[in-house]
Amino acid sequence: MSATPLRRILVVPTILAAVVLSACTADTGTGFHASRISADQPSPSAAPSASASGTPSTPLSPTVAPAYKSLAWYVAQAPTFPPAPPPQPVPLPTDGSAPFWHRLPTEQKVAFITIDDGGLARPSAVPDFIREAHIPVTMFLNSPAATEYTDYFRQIEAAGGVVENHTINHNSLKGRSYSYQKHEICGSADKLESLFGKRSTLFRPPFGERDSTTTKAAHDCGMKAVFHWTETVHEGKVRYQTPEKVVRPGDVLLMHFRPALMDDLLAALKAIHRAGLTPALLEDYVT
Ligand SMILES: [Zn+2]
Repeated sequence: MSATPLRRILVVPTILAAVVLSACTADTGTGFHASRISADQPSPSAAPSASASGTPSTPLSPTVAPAYKSLAWYVAQAPTFPPAPPPQPVPLPTDGSAPFWHRLPTEQKVAFITIDDGGLARPSAVPDFIREAHIPVTMFLNSPAATEYTDYFRQIEAAGGVVENHTINHNSLKGRSYSYQKHEICGSADKLESLFGKRSTLFRPPFGERDSTTTKAAHDCGMKAVFHWTETVHEGKVRYQTPEKVVRPGDVLLMHFRPALMDDLLAALKAIHRAGLTPALLEDYVT
């Protein structure tokens, strides 16, 4: 008689341990991208410590596949990346103009995701996707959109995204006067600073169209660099600007706040992963 309760006592912790382990496995497989990154390295303690810290995990059962195109599905589809290399900031010119770059001039194995505009559409799951999959993003916002939907962009900012400058009125700047361009660039920077408490340091001209007045005005408004892009992403498809059709180190991928942004983010992550690169935050490399 006395042996049976003792055996039960011994068995219960074993079962509990098995449940905890399977829960951790579920985390690493579906909902906790940081663990998935860690799991690539020989670090057996990474997953259990993530669970023990009380990090909320996905409510889904580990045996049920997430619904197609649900947040959990997108997170599960996101590739696993090695850590981004320690940033080696690119030197900036001192000639009174901001540099204009299609891609960041670096050979470090990183690429950059940028999201433009903000007025057209703001899919509700995007802030959660960015936070849960740890996607580094730079948002080039028009200041009226940032004003109207500040809370949405603050959510992305809280998930690690950075707000940058894309003018007030989204008109082409090329050929316009210095005073017009300066008003569009400085005015937007001032407004974004009042909304988010931090001045933007990067600028993207609408349609990528600029002239030498643009880079001078951007510099005079405190912008460190003016960015074009090397790939565009729309409705889940990456369009390359070069015949090699591969993301190269320093490349800048452009997408927009449009209805298919979840698919665009996922497509960008997959393309960066296929190239053997890691998505990184542009601001870390331009200082
Ligand atoms: Zn735009």
